[in-house]
Amino acid sequence: MKPADYLIKGVSLPDGKKADIAISDGVIASLSNGFKGEANTIIDGSECVALPGLVDLHTHLREPGREDAETVLSGSRAGAKGGFTALSAMANTSPVADTAGVVEQVYRLGQEAGLLDVFPIGAVTQGLKGEALSEIGAMADSVARVRVFSDDGNCVFDPLVMRRALEYIKKFGGLIAQHAQDPRMTIGSQMNEGVVSARLGLKGWPAVAEEAIIARDVLLADHVKSRLHICHLTTAGGVEIIRWAKARGIDVTAEVTPHHLLLTDDLASSYDPVYKVNPPLRTESDVHALREALADGTIDIVATDHAPHPTEAKECEWQEAAFGMLGLETALSIVQKTMVDTGLMNWVQVAERMSITPARIGGYESHGQALVSGSIANLVVINPTQKWTVDRDLVVSNSSNTPYHGHELPGVVAHTFYKGVATLINGNLTSIGGM
Ligand SMILES: [Zn+2]
Repeated sequence: MKPADYLIKGVSLPDGKKADIAISDGVIASLSNGFKGEANTIIDGSECVALPGLVDLHTHLREPGREDAETVLSGSRAGAKGGFTALSAMANTSPVADTAGVVEQVYRLGQEAGLLDVFPIGAVTQGLKGEALSEIGAMADSVARVRVFSDDGNCVFDPLVMRRALEYIKKFGGLIAQHAQDPRMTIGSQMNEGVVSARLGLKGWPAVAEEAIIARDVLLADHVKSRLHICHLTTAGGVEIIRWAKARGIDVTAEVTPHHLLLTDDLASSYDPVYKVNPPLRTESDVHALREALADGTIDIVATDHAPHPTEAKECEWQEAAFGMLGLETALSIVQKTMVDTGLMNWVQVAERMSITPARIGGYESHGQALVSGSIANLVVINPTQKWTVDRDLVVSNSSNTPYHGHELPGVVAHTFYKGVATLINGNLTSIGGM
């Protein structure tokens, strides 16, 4: 018998059971106690946990158009470093991904990079303007087989346009991912509306500007019996609406970002624009509600909203700075810190919220599979007992706008396997794909 490509010895599975995982020819060749064969590369997994490869339904890769901030390749590297084997690339590029040509370009660039699967998201409306629908059918039929559509960055504000989009995607089992932000109520908004914004004199962004859109859209999804996904939920009130909608049987899913599980609006007191993000950081009680909702499944998944920006767009006055922060390389550590180390979730639930469920929502069939013999070897091995300190000068993203610079975080992503090949080994990116 030929040797296995890799053998991960004595690793914990999400449920705590120990196993030797042998990987050969792109699949998990065996999962056993006491693997007897040979292997080309042997990895000691005794302190580690293996999870199905992480899937991010919300990443901004910035290519085409702002390759100084991120490219498909640099974002793929950041993903592999963070334990991801698939990510969805948001449509707010330049040009906007509102035609088959652009989504096919992004998809091809992902294949060329070869470090993970890049699934392009198509724009709902032409140019993200919220008016005429984009070429939804052509993008769905393209090589990229787009199933998720979003104007993220912008809200699909016109209810008639939203209704038409929800009706259109039903034909092929698609999904509309809404960036819930009433644009009229948030003109010039700089941060969460509350005690801190009043003290700092920064224009506030009320929770109701998010919640009113979520409420409207779950009702619309119910009315046309279509699938709706709410991007980056941030408020306790939003959680209540999703809970109500699910109890009523409405086909809605929701995501939360790692940063909204940890950071709060009082960080704006530093006037450091690294904390300026859309939707904004909210209050302690919102963070508490988001954690509870992620634990009980009201919020289905964690998605990073990885939003790279060049230095000049972030290192300026708060009012002028771009919205957004990096997320791919720190997501798992923040989830461990906020959800696992606090006892709110176990690793089985982390696997569900960061891999199995996002893969199901996006329709990414080769991802989010249970770790069993014969399944495609998309997996991540993490060491939850180790700590590391984030250094913005060492991130592999093309940008460095991480809010965690200098923070010590739990959980080191040790190894990432994409289709049976290591993209990350002992925390170091390997030289496969477009490198
Ligand atoms: Zn957004």
